Amino acid sequence: MIKDKLKRPLHDLRISVTDRCNFRCQYCMPAEIFGPDFKFLTQDEILSFEEIERLSRIFSKLGVKKLRITGGEPLMRKNVASLITMLNQIEGIEDIGLTTNGVLLQKQSQPLYDAGLRRLNISLDALDNQIFQKMNGRGVKSEIVLKGIETALKTGFSIKVNMVVQKGVNDSQIIPMAKHFKEMGVTLRFIEFMDVGNTNGWNWDQVVTKKEIYDSLSKHFKLEPVDSNYYGEVAKRYKYENSETEIGFITSVSESFCSTCTRARISANGNFYTCLFSSKGHDLKTIVRSNHDDEQILKIISDIWEKRDDRYSDERVIGSLSSTKKIEMSYIGG
Ligand code: SAM
Ligand code: SF4
Ligand code: SF4
Repeated sequence: MIKDKLKRPLHDLRISVTDRCNFRCQYCMPAEIFGPDFKFLTQDEILSFEEIERLSRIFSKLGVKKLRITGGEPLMRKNVASLITMLNQIEGIEDIGLTTNGVLLQKQSQPLYDAGLRRLNISLDALDNQIFQKMNGRGVKSEIVLKGIETALKTGFSIKVNMVVQKGVNDSQIIPMAKHFKEMGVTLRFIEFMDVGNTNGWNWDQVVTKKEIYDSLSKHFKLEPVDSNYYGEVAKRYKYENSETEIGFITSVSESFCSTCTRARISANGNFYTCLFSSKGHDLKTIVRSNHDDEQILKIISDIWEKRDDRYSDERVIGSLSSTKKIEMSYIGG
């Protein structure tokens, strides 16, 4: 097992399969920037499924046990279920998850399940349509995502719902969302609004911290902490009293968790990033398209990981950030 400079193993790989999306969430792909003239990656610029499979196989030899398929919107990549089938056959991979905005789930839920996928994270930031339609930048109603969630539950998926909370935008939805998903018995996770990329106009004033969210939930529900399941678990988990239903918090801003961060990322165009907030990736696409054999690629990846000392969120907390230009979320996938 390889470790980085801060003794963190490589355990998870997040793979962005497309930079395209059918939403324009203001906090991720603001419509003013990702407009009709925006140049998305071409077919040739993105990794093929065979290239993703090969890289995942190599990463698994270095200790990766969990894969997450993300984007952009991963369900916009044609036939993504066939990628799941390929990844499922890799020895050493114990768990595959996919993160989606849920819009295409009504159609794709069954093929994904048939391909062997069992876990979905579905993003939904509000139940209220005025709020949700504005946030997703495409006027899509929350019912569409709720139907996707319903379909996926019926198909047999294990589901977590992710809600990014932004002050003055959707914080009024914290309690309605909690009530709704408590009733459904689905885990809801609150994500602190992060300063990913360079285009989402982030500032501290728009962050609703875990403490603030917890305090407002406490006025309505009794919550009990749940111990973390494994080293490097990102969410701080709680369950409702007298219930098995959980809620979680992703506290990247207020309580960073870099010291146990075991996640690597590959962007849609095949760059390898050792941190969500990296300014520079390592070009694996050129390497897989050259005549390097698997052993040589493994050595390149392991050398990069062993040099890794990223701890961006820790540095944000202590106010010592130096990096300025960062990779956009839609490339790297969150
Ligand atoms: N399109 C899919 C979706 O929205 O679920 C997958 C990709 S999206 C980039 C992955 C996750 O990142 C989503 O849950 C999204 O809400 C979250 N995200 C995007 N921008 C964010 C930001 N600035 N702060 C916190 N979370 C963010
Ligand atoms: Fe698309 Fe997901 Fe980004 Fe929203 S958060 S714009 S759904 S990639
Ligand atoms: Fe990991 Fe970077 Fe996030 Fe810290 S800031 S938890 S190192 S991805």
